[in-house]
Amino acid sequence: MALIQTQNLRKYFPIQSMSFFGKKEKVHAVDGVTFQIEEGNTFGLVGESGCGKSTVGRLLLALLEPSGGTVNCFGKDLFNITPKELFQLRAQMQIIFQDPFASLNPRKTVRQILSKPFSIHTKMSRKEQEKAILNLLDLVGLSPPEFYISRHPHEFSGGQRQRIGIARALAVNPKFVVADEAVSALDISVQAQILKLFKKLQEELHLTCLFITHDLAVVRSVCSQVGVMYLGRLVEIAAVDELFEKQCHPYTRALCSATPLPNPSATRSRKQIILEGDIPSPIHPPTGCRFHTRCPKRFDPCDQKEPELMTLEGDHQVACHLRLI
Ligand code: SF4
Repeated sequence: MALIQTQNLRKYFPIQSMSFFGKKEKVHAVDGVTFQIEEGNTFGLVGESGCGKSTVGRLLLALLEPSGGTVNCFGKDLFNITPKELFQLRAQMQIIFQDPFASLNPRKTVRQILSKPFSIHTKMSRKEQEKAILNLLDLVGLSPPEFYISRHPHEFSGGQRQRIGIARALAVNPKFVVADEAVSALDISVQAQILKLFKKLQEELHLTCLFITHDLAVVRSVCSQVGVMYLGRLVEIAAVDELFEKQCHPYTRALCSATPLPNPSATRSRKQIILEGDIPSPIHPPTGCRFHTRCPKRFDPCDQKEPELMTLEGDHQVACHLRLI
């Protein structure tokens, strides 16, 4: 059953500058994104910086108002409910931020940071909150919890801070969690520990997750399905194993060719696809296929006709006129 569903989701940010003809301009951050996340699954959203993946995450949590389209969370239209209903839904939807240094208030102790979700969303007494916080710290591997509960964020390493961020997101038993580049600010060895913890918690608590990252290797280790974004649009969606086996969009092919394989000699013998040029401006996205300015396979209709996201077989969808097999 799909717990989260988006339909033609759009978000445009107006900007100060005007076009040559005096028309107000806008950044097309997210431009017609449709996908769904099944209950208990982790959906990985990948793409270059600035492609709109974090904006999608914030739209799914109702932290931003969309310019168009719908988001259906737990059977409710997220942008067509009362403020009271939205407040109740917020306890079930949480976020793990990218930067474990900026996302924790340096003046507060771990006890104060982790008691906040309980104060907002529950009627727990102080004693009950204390017990729940100790359990949370234990759950995320900060043991013995009594040793950590009165400390401030600066007394922790990056990995430990991210564990506190995860504990805060899980405090009020959410059903849906958005992890926005949750491991990109950490060292590789710490990344592996946090990914292992995330996967363990996701399975134990049967969480539904959106895992936003620019790293396909990270997606491979924690996600069951993956969506590839380019310039505000989804260009390919597939089960993780299938995507790594067979990429049907030239952009996904280029991304995968740059991802290291566990076997170093296989990585060395593989031909890397190097894309030319920069990602175009989201203020004036190219006509037709948005990837045509960099696509090594482009042909005649690509710069005029925009390809729709089409289902190939099973759940594999791709937006390309060529549909590489
Ligand atoms: Fe390349 Fe054309 Fe496919 Fe776009 S539609 S990805 S330009 S082949």
